[in-house]
Amino acid sequence: MSAVKKFRREDLKAGENLCDYCTAKCCRYFAFPIDQPKKYEDFDHLRWFMLHGRVAVFVEEGTWYLMVYADCKHLMEDHRCGIYHDRPKICRGYSTDNCEYEDDAVYDMFFETPEQMWEYAQAVLPPTRKRKFSTKPVPAKDVKLPVLA
Ligand code: SF4
Ligand code: SF4
Repeated sequence: MSAVKKFRREDLKAGENLCDYCTAKCCRYFAFPIDQPKKYEDFDHLRWFMLHGRVAVFVEEGTWYLMVYADCKHLMEDHRCGIYHDRPKICRGYSTDNCEYEDDAVYDMFFETPEQMWEYAQAVLPPTRKRKFSTKPVPAKDVKLPVLA
């Protein structure tokens, strides 16, 4: 079985609309700028968002964004807008010029999981937790063994 070749933006003919060749990628998520996390507490809040799933965080030109993957409720099965003539201003202002049709966006940073986010926090922030154990050997007389009742 041969793979279906994706239509190329540069092959668009006059009068054609690139959206007719797309699966409406721009209607399947939203993203908004957030404050840059600076301390563990900030990263922990972001981690909480991400633990809900279908949430990513990216950084572009120094600005941090929270991204939520969610299909618009008016997106129809044929990838068209169900409220085209009444769609929100944000949708009206969006253009195919710099859209994500090709799916080749590159970010300064992109965190897909809360674990990645936390690993990053630990790499850029000073360690917070003190070691809970000592490497000093414990004298045999001080070792307490569990006793069965
Ligand atoms: S604007 Fe771009 S991403 Fe959105 S539907 Fe049209 S081609 Fe697809
Ligand atoms: S209102 Fe229409 S154009 Fe806007 S996100 Fe929903 S389906 Fe897409």
